[in-house]
Amino acid sequence: MKENLIKDTLQLMKIPGLSGYEDRVRKYLKDEIEALGLSTITDKLGNLRLQIPGNGPCIMIFTHMDQLGLVVRRIDEDGFLWFERLGGVPEKMLPGQPVLVSARSGQDFEGVIGIKSHHATGPNEKYTVNSYKDLYVDLGYGSKDAVKALGINIGSPIVYKPSAEMLATDKICGTSVDDRAGCAVLLELIRHIKNGDNGGDIHIVFTVQEEFNLRGALPAAQQIQPDIALQIDLILASDTPDMKDFGEVKLGDGPALSMFSFHGRGTLNGVIPHPELVKYIEKTADQQGITLQKSAHIGALTDLSYVQLVNEGVVCADLGFPMRYSHSSYEMCDVNDLVGLTQLLVSFVKGFPASFQLNREE
Ligand SMILES: [Zn+2]
Repeated sequence: MKENLIKDTLQLMKIPGLSGYEDRVRKYLKDEIEALGLSTITDKLGNLRLQIPGNGPCIMIFTHMDQLGLVVRRIDEDGFLWFERLGGVPEKMLPGQPVLVSARSGQDFEGVIGIKSHHATGPNEKYTVNSYKDLYVDLGYGSKDAVKALGINIGSPIVYKPSAEMLATDKICGTSVDDRAGCAVLLELIRHIKNGDNGGDIHIVFTVQEEFNLRGALPAAQQIQPDIALQIDLILASDTPDMKDFGEVKLGDGPALSMFSFHGRGTLNGVIPHPELVKYIEKTADQQGITLQKSAHIGALTDLSYVQLVNEGVVCADLGFPMRYSHSSYEMCDVNDLVGLTQLLVSFVKGFPASFQLNREE
């Protein structure tokens, strides 16, 4: 299990997949799933899903394939690319950042976001953050025509230059640990539950456009009409010096359950998990000897916020792995948390009780 999680996470992190351009990530997952003898469905938005039929409630377990990045807005005469942000890209880490721009042909081109030479930086500029509108990508070509000849144009996707490596004591680091680690966890879950004999009718979904508008999962949820939904993504680790006030989640201390999420900036949504589901998850973790961490804070949101509102409402919870440095180009998680999360999900699915109370009233 651990070897698979390391291999899949590192491989998936190296594949560019900006929101709306998840095709190569989906291909990796689809090939792996079909190699297990399972068939998949891809909907028109790009969500990849499969069913492992069974008796009991309809359970949807999902995670997003896409990553945040940038989109080309304008190419100037000197061949510099000016861009828009797609998703919550922190502007303070953009200058000097290596990036990858994808041409329509599928070919990728490396570049860098320009940073003013330090020797020319005045004292007033040293401690300020530039707006993304003042930043540009340098591909090394000297003209607009040369860049366009590569197949790069208005709307071309840009991501952080992919990187994936292991640091000491089982840390997985690099680009888009959010949420390729989640994809690796669900792939490994599928390997363990594919033969059926589970406690429900299981639907696994790899979703699109989560970092963009949080609603890419909706067509899948509308098709599946789940009774229960589990969403798998990072949970913010708060064990670095700058995050101490944020909570108690530590890297390496096990998977985590979100007890409350809310986002009021730009959108207005959040998830408060179903109390019976919380009890079942806690009991499952306890029986398996898995430490379950908890988080409750504002400022983060997942596509579950929208999935929970489908049909009569969905019994739901956000589960995840602790992660540091979210939305930067060097995110970090601990593979042992991925192992714990996968084991928890396998037990969740295998032991799901037929007697589970879906309704709020007895
Ligand atoms: Zn995510």
